[in-house]
Amino acid sequence: MIRITDILDKIYEYNPGGDSDIIDRAYIYSARVHDGQVRLSGEPYLSHPLEVASILADMRLDVESIAAALLHDVIEDTPATREDIEEMFGPGVAHIVSGVTKLSVLPFSTKIAQQAESLRKMILAMADDIRVVLIKLADRIHNMRTLKYHRSPEKQAAIAQETLDIYAPIAARLGIFWMKYELEEIAFYYTLRDEYERIDALVNKARDEKEDYIKEVNAKLQGKMKEMGLDAEIKGRYKQHYSIYQKMISQNLEFNEVYDIIAFRIILDTVPQCYAAMGAIHSMWKPIYYKIKDYIGNPKPNMYQSIHTTVVGPKGERVEIQIRTRDMDQIAESGIAAHWSYKEGAKIDESTGQLFAWIRNLVENQENYNDPDEFLENVRIDLYPDEIYVFTPLGEIRTLPKKATPVDFAYMIHTEVGAECTGAKVNGKIVPLTHHLKTGDTIEIITTKGHTPSTDWLNFVKTVKARTKIRAWINTREKERSYSLGREMCEKTFRKKNQNFNALVKSGEIKKVADTFGFKTVDDLIAHVGFGKFTPLQLLNKALPELEKPEAKEGGLLQKLVGRRKKKDSTGIIVKGLNDILVKFSKCCNPLPGDPIIGYITQGQGVTIHRKGCLNVMKMSNERQIEVQWSDDFTESYPASIKIRTDDRFGLLADIASVISKHKSNILNARTETQETGLGLFYFTILVESTTQLRTIMSDIRKVKKVTDVKRIIRTE
Ligand code: MN
Repeated sequence: MIRITDILDKIYEYNPGGDSDIIDRAYIYSARVHDGQVRLSGEPYLSHPLEVASILADMRLDVESIAAALLHDVIEDTPATREDIEEMFGPGVAHIVSGVTKLSVLPFSTKIAQQAESLRKMILAMADDIRVVLIKLADRIHNMRTLKYHRSPEKQAAIAQETLDIYAPIAARLGIFWMKYELEEIAFYYTLRDEYERIDALVNKARDEKEDYIKEVNAKLQGKMKEMGLDAEIKGRYKQHYSIYQKMISQNLEFNEVYDIIAFRIILDTVPQCYAAMGAIHSMWKPIYYKIKDYIGNPKPNMYQSIHTTVVGPKGERVEIQIRTRDMDQIAESGIAAHWSYKEGAKIDESTGQLFAWIRNLVENQENYNDPDEFLENVRIDLYPDEIYVFTPLGEIRTLPKKATPVDFAYMIHTEVGAECTGAKVNGKIVPLTHHLKTGDTIEIITTKGHTPSTDWLNFVKTVKARTKIRAWINTREKERSYSLGREMCEKTFRKKNQNFNALVKSGEIKKVADTFGFKTVDDLIAHVGFGKFTPLQLLNKALPELEKPEAKEGGLLQKLVGRRKKKDSTGIIVKGLNDILVKFSKCCNPLPGDPIIGYITQGQGVTIHRKGCLNVMKMSNERQIEVQWSDDFTESYPASIKIRTDDRFGLLADIASVISKHKSNILNARTETQETGLGLFYFTILVESTTQLRTIMSDIRKVKKVTDVKRIIRTE
């Protein structure tokens, strides 16, 4: 148990002239009136006011606050009255203690009304004397630290929930981040214990695995700072469990997808050094430009200042770095308390003034609110900055996460409205679907019957509901596509063997095949052929086992007869992990191994391969597009067209042709054009195996004398 002398020592350190007598007297009085009372931990009750006073001494508050902290429970829990306190310790201390006492009494029965009333009281208390709220927060910190002594899990969860709803947001709004984080961590454990323990285990595992990585990043940052002549302190720390959890929930991520579980912090002496450090880091690691946030130039309303940047680190992963001065670092920890000087009559600086203006404004307007709920809504806007409040055209309020878009809003209204959403009006004006909604916006969703969600939406939606509904829709569509592809593949394979797949389906015989493969329905079976889980030939062999033997023989014979045939059969394309599907290459864009490609399902003709970005593909329906990739063992040659510009054409054709044949490529077609200026233009269509080979050939052609330019031609129309 902490002793009063420890607290006096702390105060003496930062405020040697402070009145230690009032602290002594408050301690003795508190000890007397609380005598005989015991905490749930079994400790004497006095340990609680002592701990609260000690927290406030760490925050370097004035002696009146610390005396009030020692006495904060006496009016509520002992026979002592406000008058007694005023008589013994003066009006200042009495005012604070009675303020803290008033905050404890909650007359409302429903949870929402209680929350509204608690917040209203806290705001009023802040406006009256911020120290009342600081004591209340310190009180809550100690009560949370000792929450384990409560017997009832329900009671623990209720207290923890109240901490998350009221105390942590207020600590954040006042900029006291250490309090916010500690309150949230403990409350997380008591409200969602399974989640807490799961994340705790994962963080511990990551900590073991990432120890070397942290050292490496740290050393590189340290080295860079030294090189720049900057004297910096560098810290790598793990994010709070609760912050990680919130990120997972709000962005629907798995733990290993939360890249920034470690944040690095660089602490320097001056503001110019901070910007210099940012520049140095950006020259070492590429910044993600939209992640750069300058809260030094634009401090947050709670006075927080820092530069935040996210860079692509040494292993290609994202690294979050905060850069700030020592003063800013201290304010980031203690917030308003850092400005709340223990010195009497100290001037409140501008940013603190702004914070008080916010509180005053809320209080002055409270008469305009009809009930606590309405007041709460307004307070919440400030206290929960990650939420926005928007309206339906009928004036109903909806809560969304910050940066939510019309698509999120549409899905919140109804899944169908979300799916058919094609546009939106915000406050009467048409906006793009990516538009970020703001508090107070009225949103009208424009729908088109039969419209379907787009995969692009996943890049910008913010709510879990929208995300899951869009994903579900994509999965269904993929299944449909796999089904139509699978069906086509089966028809083709059966045709090759002079069998009729559709007849097999009609006869119902195929149900037996589905059973042997373990599928509930025939559709599932066919879709899995499309997925590439097994080949149509396997299906055929199961359906018509009598065909299997001769087929093997025939295959062997064929192989022997046309030994080189196989080469031609291998297209070098994998369609969803499967390579016995009929594949054709588009004539419009001549894709080569190495080019990004996309497949297009053509009725009865298998899959046509186009380059990604080919205009023809963009014109085709989305439903028929399918992902394809080059296989590793492509042995085919593919046509590629190149255009060569030269200063002179005489004798050049032979030179260029010999370069091409040196690389074992065949020329399919050559054409020359002479321009009036005497410049020559050559067009070649050659056969190559890959983009790599084409690049080598092109670079060797560039080395031919008088050649000024070589380009690959990709016809897009
Ligand atoms: Mn207390």
